[in-house]
Amino acid sequence: MSVLEIKNLHVNVDTDQGTREILRGVDLVINEGEIHAIMGPNGSGKSTLAYTIAGHPKYHVVQGEILLDGENVLEMTVDERARAGLFLAMQYPVEIPGVTVTNFLRTAKTAIDGEAPSVRHWVKDVRESMSNLKMDSAFAERNVNEGFSGGEKKRNEILQLELLKPRFAVLDETDSGLDVDALRIVSEGVNRAKANTGLGIMLITHYTRILRYITPDFVHVFVAGRIAEQGGRELADRLEEEGYDRYQVAEPAVV
Ligand code: ADP
Ligand code: MG
Ligand code: MG
Repeated sequence: MSVLEIKNLHVNVDTDQGTREILRGVDLVINEGEIHAIMGPNGSGKSTLAYTIAGHPKYHVVQGEILLDGENVLEMTVDERARAGLFLAMQYPVEIPGVTVTNFLRTAKTAIDGEAPSVRHWVKDVRESMSNLKMDSAFAERNVNEGFSGGEKKRNEILQLELLKPRFAVLDETDSGLDVDALRIVSEGVNRAKANTGLGIMLITHYTRILRYITPDFVHVFVAGRIAEQGGRELADRLEEEGYDRYQVAEPAVV
């Protein structure tokens, strides 16, 4: 049984105005096969949590720990985190000029597994996943994220998720900018990954819309750098009606 544990996580970020404390003591445990929705107002630190798990150099952990099956994630390089089974779908995916989708996937798969995938299975798997996600096969030969629409970027992230088969995925606003059809296709991809591989998921979202297609086991309300409330999926329904106004939103402190 795999588990991702976040304990009393405090994170600072360097800004032009000095160092600011963004995360102020986050505690969260995600077991394999569980879907945790992280919901909260803009600027509450949701992406900061995602970037910190991914190992982005701008975010400094000043207290607390992140453990994957007891292993210290914070001591791992970005590559080691991916090999250990962590996957991050970013809110703003980057373009990779000169690298096609198909080459990127194969390189990432090889790096993560420690050996190249067998050609026969791999080509079939890629085709199948692309077809599941209603992606045109010509898409595979385009450069990663170059000129992709918002929906294409998100589908491409889910394609990676399906093929790289991580143990835990952090999906940061994978729902933003998707029309209803794309939202359903992307959500089905996430549900498939959970069903097929027992993926554990941290689903970061500002809106409750995606939770009509992906049923969270737990909902956490993130406010001003920490979890202000947690519950089951009924909490998401309440947020849909009431919004975040009832939570006191304090500005993160300058430290
Ligand atoms: P959310 O994803 O919940 O909208 P973020 O984690 O993006 O929140 O941001 C939380 C706060 O931290 C915001 O006030 C934001 O301006 C600040 N912040 C996050 N990353 C950076 C950064 N790299 N440089 C400066 N400020 C940042
Ligand atoms: Mg604390
Ligand atoms: Mg964000």
